[in-house]
Amino acid sequence: MTTRAAKATTRPVRSRCRYKKIPPAQKLSYDAYAGRACYACGRTLTTGAILVGRATGRQGVHVLDVDVYACP
Ligand SMILES: [Zn+2]
Repeated sequence: MTTRAAKATTRPVRSRCRYKKIPPAQKLSYDAYAGRACYACGRTLTTGAILVGRATGRQGVHVLDVDVYACP
């Protein structure tokens, strides 16, 4: 009889990405602007992405404001 030590390693991974200053919308990568990647490190987001805030920007009359997400 073997008893497996069920060590739950479900420690939440906390990245520091969300503490990074949100860049102007023009500086975001295409994927970050589309909400598919972390605005800080550029990694593609899967689940648990955190809505950090809004990057703001303008291009002529066009408002480029967009929500930005960070790694969990
Ligand atoms: Zn990140």
